[in-house]
Amino acid sequence: MPQSAEKVLDHAPLFREPEYTDMLARKKVMFECGVSDVQIQDTSEWTKTWEYREKNLARTALVVNPVKACQPLGAVFAAAGFEKTMSFVHGSQGCVAYYRSHLSRHFKEPSSAVSSSMTEDAAVFGGLNNMVDGLANTYKLYDPKMIAVSTTCMAEVIGDDLHAFIQTAKQKGSVPENFDVPFAHTPAFVGSHTDGYDNMMKGVLEHFWKDKERKAGTRINIIPGFDGFVVGNNRELKRILDAMGVDYTILSDAADQYDTPADGEFRMYDGGTKIDDVAAALDAKATLSLQSWCTKKTTGFIGEKGQETASFHYPMGVGATDDLLMKISELTGKPIPAEIEKERGRFVDAMADSQAHLHGKKYAIYGDPDFVYAMARFVMETGGEPTHCLATNGKTEWVEEMKALFASSPFGANAQVWAGKDLWHLRSLLFTEPVDFLIGSSYGKYLERDTGTPLIRLTFPIFDRHHHHRFPVWGYQGGLRVLTTLLDKVFDTLDRETINPGVTDYSYDLTR
Ligand code: SF4
Repeated sequence: MPQSAEKVLDHAPLFREPEYTDMLARKKVMFECGVSDVQIQDTSEWTKTWEYREKNLARTALVVNPVKACQPLGAVFAAAGFEKTMSFVHGSQGCVAYYRSHLSRHFKEPSSAVSSSMTEDAAVFGGLNNMVDGLANTYKLYDPKMIAVSTTCMAEVIGDDLHAFIQTAKQKGSVPENFDVPFAHTPAFVGSHTDGYDNMMKGVLEHFWKDKERKAGTRINIIPGFDGFVVGNNRELKRILDAMGVDYTILSDAADQYDTPADGEFRMYDGGTKIDDVAAALDAKATLSLQSWCTKKTTGFIGEKGQETASFHYPMGVGATDDLLMKISELTGKPIPAEIEKERGRFVDAMADSQAHLHGKKYAIYGDPDFVYAMARFVMETGGEPTHCLATNGKTEWVEEMKALFASSPFGANAQVWAGKDLWHLRSLLFTEPVDFLIGSSYGKYLERDTGTPLIRLTFPIFDRHHHHRFPVWGYQGGLRVLTTLLDKVFDTLDRETINPGVTDYSYDLTR
């Protein structure tokens, strides 16, 4: 045995021991139909051709490595941004384990959410009893101030009615009649986590604002949207708003929930938008959504209540930050302070300092529609070309917005947008029309390995690197960090390609 109680091996050296290499060799013979190494190599090479690309792009019946998660994950994230709120997902237990682990692995924090644990009997007879018992247990065990209910595929397929179920549970005493239980149907077999976020945000606002009359005030509301960098970004956003002297309410602020301190106290709940502030947000002057494609239904509902709304595409980069700050200034009458203007100037200066290294670089960018839009805009500000822009959850209208963005800059002349495509499609695109760098989530590491395109991790989920989410990418300060991240990869790649002494080390110097 390669390991014992006295000598426990980590998985990496363990699986290189003969027991495991022999087992893998036997599996290959038994399960890979005796295909020869030559055949595998030939097929692998064929998948890099234009012929295969055309077949791959025509694919409709199969999705491989999509850049999206299912709706309830977004609903759980949205709920985490409200004070002492427990997510209650009506459906199967394994799904909820997935949302918790997905969020925990990205944020390196505990992620609490409960399930109504529907099994075969509930799938046949409906999940009412699970809702009644589940709400009662959640209320008693976890002492929440609010329980936010969403659904998995299972509950949606059998058509469970959340409104009726929650009312029945209240009548049966699971929670007090006046206890806040907003809900959102989040059918996971359509849309993505961004739709789940949108549905839950709308559900929460409907719960508190329904049948209430609005008295217009002067505060503004800000909805950040689904954001893996929420910890750093929301704190940066608040710093800027405080510097401007703006009265604001962030609707769903999960920054503290996903960044609790290690000081001996476990916090099941931390931070979040105060429940009273959610109710009072109806009287705000306006609501700004920082991610348009995450909040279409929510901003529609807010508009119906008589509030002005404005939507942005992830405020990352010079132009995107300018647009947001100028809108806030216009709405509130507060000028942009000199210290923030100076930050802008420093950011632009940094971009100019490094322009020679970024100009003309080609990128493939994938992720949620708002992130891809912002990232493409950012790289064009540096003189880079967003050659491939892909969002599995992008829609036709997003394609039109992306094309308009490309048309606004000479660096967008050769840019292409790919809505509804996955990372196996992107693999074909990278082999046939290569780029210098890949920007997205950890899921791109297979593409990096296959195609040799260096991966820059700048969006959710990031599992295989730690703590990126603790630093902002929004605003001018955040933009500096994004710029530095791009440049680090450019220089790491340059160093790696010029490291061979006497052959390629013409650029491997320290005085360039
Ligand atoms: S897609 Fe459906 S079954 Fe899969 S995790 Fe999401 S809710 Fe559960």
